[in-house]
Amino acid sequence: MEKERDMVEPERVAVPGLDQVIGRKFPVLDDGFVRLIDYMGSDESIVQAARVSYGKGTRTVSDDRSLIRYLMRNRHTSPFEMCEVKLHIRIPMDLWRQWIRHRTASVNEYSTRYSIAIDSAKKTLPGQWRLQSEVNRQGSGEALDMDLGEGLSRREAELQALAREVYRERIELGVAREQARKDLPLCTYTEAYWKIDLHNLLHFLALRMDEKAQLEIREYATAIAGEIVRRWVPLTWEAFLDYGLGAMTLSRIEIEVIALMSEGKKEEAVSRLFTSGLLSERDGEIKEGREAGELAEKLARLGLRKPWGKE
Ligand SMILES: Cc1cc2nc3c(=O)[nH]c(=O)nc-3n(C[C@H](O)[C@H](O)[C@H](O)COP(=O)(O)OP(=O)(O)OC[C@H]3O[C@@H](n4cnc5c(N)ncnc54)[C@H](O)[C@@H]3O)c2cc1C
Repeated sequence: MEKERDMVEPERVAVPGLDQVIGRKFPVLDDGFVRLIDYMGSDESIVQAARVSYGKGTRTVSDDRSLIRYLMRNRHTSPFEMCEVKLHIRIPMDLWRQWIRHRTASVNEYSTRYSIAIDSAKKTLPGQWRLQSEVNRQGSGEALDMDLGEGLSRREAELQALAREVYRERIELGVAREQARKDLPLCTYTEAYWKIDLHNLLHFLALRMDEKAQLEIREYATAIAGEIVRRWVPLTWEAFLDYGLGAMTLSRIEIEVIALMSEGKKEEAVSRLFTSGLLSERDGEIKEGREAGELAEKLARLGLRKPWGKE
């Protein structure tokens, strides 16, 4: 009779370095935090799950690190779903609105229908106001002058105080909490329990640690990555830095262009960019679309000069 495979781990997996920080609040922004409530699994559980599908033979040919790197590189995602984490977060509502778009988590949020809204609002220091970005319609750019910042922070404080006062008046008059809250600003802090598996957490981190994400949500993602994930699954984290966060993808056209550049065929490379629509010409000038701009950034990372435009 075939020997039964070892499908179930006999004991709960523990990660001592992570156990030490259970319950600790890692501060984010002026009054937010990320706190680890519980976790399931470790690097070992990922390896164990993968070996269930590939069979024990793999144990002799690959150690845990190389197996995890193989899984990450080849997007074998389900072993990473064997690990889960439950966090308690305190976050302003405007950022929470972005966070909650990640549908693959289980969520319980503090209810302002049931309870009085948390009496805390994110404040912006005079030096923290940012100008609208000129290149990214969703992003921000340079810092505003400190003098302007002083005024903006003062007005922010007045607005937050007034909103809170009106809310309190309504509550004192007996207005239902679900209605009284309607004019609270989006900077009001909320709290939630958030449970997610490691695969989807890494997806969240890839999107929210990216420089295109809003600075403030990046601070949360960075805290989760640095304080929790790095301690929890160091091998997976290393693989994710190598093949996810720190990696870049090249499209078919980009590969062709780089290959032509490496052969010294600069004009052909530029011509390929025109035929594929990444570059166009207007009034005798080369127009660089968004994709060409992104290619220029990739080339810079590779230490290469873009083959079009002025040097
Ligand atoms: C920088 C940035 C800017 C953004 N700007 C905007 C914006 O302007 N407007 C806006 O509305 N949103 C915006 N978003 C939100 C974005 O479009 C996603 O909704 C959000 O990032 C969640 O990503 P996700 O769906 O991949 O994650 P999750 O919801 O965690 O899903 C993970 C993966 O599961 C799969 N999945 C989950 N649910 C489904 C489903 N129902 N059907 C099929 N597959 C599913 C998908 O493969 C998905 O990638 C922005 C996000 C970022 C990071």
